[in-house]
Amino acid sequence: MNTEFILADRQLSLIRYPEKHQHVSLQAWDSADELVIEHLESLLSENELSIGDNESTPSLMIFNDDFGALGCWFSHLAPYWVSDSYISLRSLHENLKANSLLSASEGSCTQELKTSPVKTLTSVESASFKPACTPAVVVIKVPRSLALLEQQLIDLQAYITPETTVIATGKVKAITKSVLNLFEKYIGPTTTSLAKKKSRLIFATPRDSLKQATSPYPTRWQCKSTMGAALIIDNLANTFARQSLDIGARIMLEHMTVSANDVVVDLGCGNGVLGVNALSLAPDAKVIFVDESYMALESARLNVLNNFPDKIEQCEFVASNCLETLLNRENKPAVTKILCNPPFHQQNAITDHIAWQMFTDSRDLLVKSGHLVVVGNRHLEYHIKLKKLFGGAKVLASDKKFVILGTAKR
Ligand code: SAM
Repeated sequence: MNTEFILADRQLSLIRYPEKHQHVSLQAWDSADELVIEHLESLLSENELSIGDNESTPSLMIFNDDFGALGCWFSHLAPYWVSDSYISLRSLHENLKANSLLSASEGSCTQELKTSPVKTLTSVESASFKPACTPAVVVIKVPRSLALLEQQLIDLQAYITPETTVIATGKVKAITKSVLNLFEKYIGPTTTSLAKKKSRLIFATPRDSLKQATSPYPTRWQCKSTMGAALIIDNLANTFARQSLDIGARIMLEHMTVSANDVVVDLGCGNGVLGVNALSLAPDAKVIFVDESYMALESARLNVLNNFPDKIEQCEFVASNCLETLLNRENKPAVTKILCNPPFHQQNAITDHIAWQMFTDSRDLLVKSGHLVVVGNRHLEYHIKLKKLFGGAKVLASDKKFVILGTAKR
C-alpha cells in the first residue's frame, strides 16, 4: 500500500485500517481529498476563512472522511469529524497516532481519541448534535449512499447559516445530478468546480433562514419471519437493504434454525433482520449484532425494540471490523452460532477480503462444534474459503442465484 501522502510542503503517513488486509494498489486518500485540501488551504492563506480551534469559535466540520486523511491534515483546526464507519474511525485513530497528532498513546482507541484535537461523532450522534457556535466551514466527502447524504444535509440545516461555507468533494462520477439536486434542495444555490484529476468540488450557499426538513428516514418495511409472523424493519439512511429485504437475507429467513440456548452473532447485521428473526425462533437466545456502520447498529437496535422489546436486554450491539471487537475482549462470549450475509465491497472497492476476515474471525470466535451459516451469491464461491478454514461446508439450501452454506468448528 502506498502510505506516503505528499502535498504542497507537507507529508503524512496514512494507512487504511486494518493495514494488514489491504491490497497493495489501495491507498488511504484520493484526488477528491487533495482537491478539497488545496482549495481550503488557499482560502485559509488568503484569510478568506476564519476557523477557531475551540468550541466557542466558528469551527470546521468534516463529514465522511474515508480513512482520516482530511482529519489528520486539518487536525490543527480541531475539526468536528463525522462518520458512519467504525473502519474510518479506526483509520483516523491509527493515522493520527502514526503522525504524532495524539497526545496520549497508551489507551483504547476511544480513550486515545479523546486526547485528539479532532472531535469525532458517529453519524447517529451527529443527527442530534448542535455545535456551540455555527460552523465556519463544512466539508463533505460525497458518500456512496444518496440517502446518507440526504440525512446529513437535513442534520446540517439545524445549525448552518448563510455565513457557513459548504464544500463537498468527490470523484466526477460520484457527483451526479441527484447529488447536486440534494444540495440545491436542502442547502441552497449550488455550483461545481472544474474537474481536476477526475474529481471536482461542489459549492453550496446556505439559504437565509433554512428550516429543518422532516427526514424521510428511517425507511420502514415488513417481511415474514421463518415462523410466518410479520417483522417490522426500520432502516436508518445508510443501512444496507434500506428499501426492501435483501434476496440473500430472504432465503436465510426461509431456512434459518436457532436453538433455545444458542448465543448468536448476526455478523454484518445491517438492519438486524437475521438476528431479530433468531429471537422469533428462540426467544431465550442471546443475540449479538455486529456491524461497522453505526446507522446499521442503531437500526438493528430499533428493530429489536419494534419486534421484541422485552428481549432488548439479551441483545448487544457492537461496532467492529468483522469480529475483532469481540475477539479482543478479555471475556469472549461463548458463541454457538454465527449468521452471515457478507459484504463484497469496502467503500468503492470490490473485494473479498472482508468475507475472508469474517470467516477467519468466526472460526476463532465460535466454541467447539459452533456453527457458521453463510449466505451468498453462487458465483462468490464461499465454499472454497470455508473448506480451507473449516475443512468443508454443507449446502443447507439453495436457489438459482443463492446458496446457504453451513459449517461447524471442529
Ligand atoms: N445482515 C444484513 C442482511 O442480511 O440484510 C446485512 C448484510 S450486508 C450484505 C453486509 C453488512 O456488513 C452491511 O451491513 C455492512 O455495513 C457490514 N460490513 C461491511 N464491512 C464490514 C466489516 N468490515 N465489519 C463488520 N461489518 C461490515
